[in-house]
Amino acid sequence: MYQELKVIDIHTHIGSVKSWSPLLKGFIRVGLKELLEYIDEENLSATWLLPLPGKIEADINIISTNEVIKICKKYPCRLIPFCSIDPRVPKASELLKDFKKRGCKGLGEFKVKLPVDNPLSIELFEKAGELEMPVIIHMDNKFNPDIVKLKYVLEKCPHTVFILHGPGWWKHISAEAPDKEDYPTGKVVPGGLVEKLLLKYSNLYADLSARSGLNAITRDPAYSKEFLEKFSNRVLFGTDFPCLDIDATQFGVNKKHLNALISLNLSKKALKNILYENALNLIAF
Ligand SMILES: [Zn+2]
Repeated sequence: MYQELKVIDIHTHIGSVKSWSPLLKGFIRVGLKELLEYIDEENLSATWLLPLPGKIEADINIISTNEVIKICKKYPCRLIPFCSIDPRVPKASELLKDFKKRGCKGLGEFKVKLPVDNPLSIELFEKAGELEMPVIIHMDNKFNPDIVKLKYVLEKCPHTVFILHGPGWWKHISAEAPDKEDYPTGKVVPGGLVEKLLLKYSNLYADLSARSGLNAITRDPAYSKEFLEKFSNRVLFGTDFPCLDIDATQFGVNKKHLNALISLNLSKKALKNILYENALNLIAF
């Protein structure tokens, strides 16, 4: 039945990432050709193409915003350009404005080693709100920690749309989230910070991509179904293509995120929102 569904993958990259699967040594590298192949094979309506703000880790080498803009111009319907900025660069807000003028629809992936409530970041987030650009934030112990301070950011920037992803976000789908474990398994204890924040802040969204999102919606299917129905207008389908899962299959191509959603037997409306409508609404301006 899902062949009829329209799908936008909101979290894809071009470049190389280190495999952290024990079954595959070294790096995986994809170019534009492979991204387009993925789009065609999975019959996606479009993908959001996310750069990173320069070299953030030795293990990751993702193309820059300028390259993303250039590539997306050639495929205006299939590839949606985002920009990524380190808020510590001079005139970061001006740069964001310029990227918007050049076609970027949002800010992300925002992956910098700063606490999420850093004043420079907040300034940039406020500007993104003004420019109607949603912000995709990667959150874990190294990048943009911590989820408790996110509340302060949401209070400060009520007009900015935030889309959260990463283990530092998704492990808090449960009220019991161990400090040291990035991908906790087993039953979800209701009332986690993810749920609490989504309930309180209507400008907050969640991105299902990568292992963190997949783990969050597969660890406790009964809870997932309830959670996704409840927040179906604020959860977005994404994969983090070309990253690898622990079994060395590639997100997106391995269909794990899509199959997990299908297997939950969500209402048609919820599934449509998560796979397509929410993504479309956030950048339709
Ligand atoms: Zn990513």
